[in-house]
Amino acid sequence: MIKNPHFPLKLRLARKVLGWSMDDLVERMEGMVSKQSISRYERGQMHPKMDVLEKMAEIMGVEIPYFFDQGMKTDAVCLRRTAVYELTTNEEEEISTRLAFWAERYVAMEQKSGFFREFKNPLKGMTVENVEDAIRAADLLRRVWNVGDGPICSVLRLLERKGVRILQTELPHEILGLSTWADEAYPLIVLSDCKENTTVERTRFTALHELGHLLLEIPEDVDEERICNQFAGVFLLPPSTLFEEIGKQRDEIGLKEAMDLHMLYGVSVAALIHQALDLKIITREHYNWWFEEVIRKNRKEEGWGTYPFPETLAREMRISDIIKGASEKDK
Ligand SMILES: [Zn+2]
Repeated sequence: MIKNPHFPLKLRLARKVLGWSMDDLVERMEGMVSKQSISRYERGQMHPKMDVLEKMAEIMGVEIPYFFDQGMKTDAVCLRRTAVYELTTNEEEEISTRLAFWAERYVAMEQKSGFFREFKNPLKGMTVENVEDAIRAADLLRRVWNVGDGPICSVLRLLERKGVRILQTELPHEILGLSTWADEAYPLIVLSDCKENTTVERTRFTALHELGHLLLEIPEDVDEERICNQFAGVFLLPPSTLFEEIGKQRDEIGLKEAMDLHMLYGVSVAALIHQALDLKIITREHYNWWFEEVIRKNRKEEGWGTYPFPETLAREMRISDIIKGASEKDK
């Protein structure tokens, strides 16, 4: 029997990420353990033998060191910095353990399937401290990633293609997204899977806001949240494109026009109006009117049109299908 204080939490969270009940795990262990043993493992009342541990690691798709807290590590400082409120120690430990398990398994699957992709930060060394810098960073990223200057139909698919690993999972209610690095090499974005808490437009914006946390070098005395919001906004709808659409200076922007841009570019009306102020297209006075008279009265932007493309993830599923296909051929 191997005593290991990390095992109960590691096992419970691995099971949670995989979406397995205790019965599912018993079935996959092919008779090696009972449900009662699993329950006792998770409460720390019993420890598994080596052969049980080996089998568990195999079916869960990780290496044994994971269970000893010696597997992939996520950057806790980065995770803390991206949360909108101070996570409790428990929340932080739970989230980082879940993430580390998921990332380790994902990268192992990528390597096995030949679908592995290294991530390079095209913005490395670029300090961003104001909206002009954020625009430069977003423009450069669009260029390096060959995105062009038009709408991005799916942000999540774009990020996945470029090597950002994205997980949609349960998060504390107030948190829409988090991000961190695993083993200093793999960028991870976690998005809340709570449907009532978010919209497609918010998911797009949140993913890019988190990308900002991951890629931008922001000096400590600068408001990082604001910069990441600005970066997300100008990446979704580049200023040069917005100028072509509505001009460089306007006395007013109408709701119909804002709805049209919202539905084409997948930005919320609120984000659009923010951007129009940041780019000095409209005055602070007109911006205040928008927020007080229009946006604040319809926070959920109901009736203002919907962005027609869904935001879904596909890469992890594809990789897992490749592995399944290959192992079925071997049989
Ligand atoms: Zn943030």
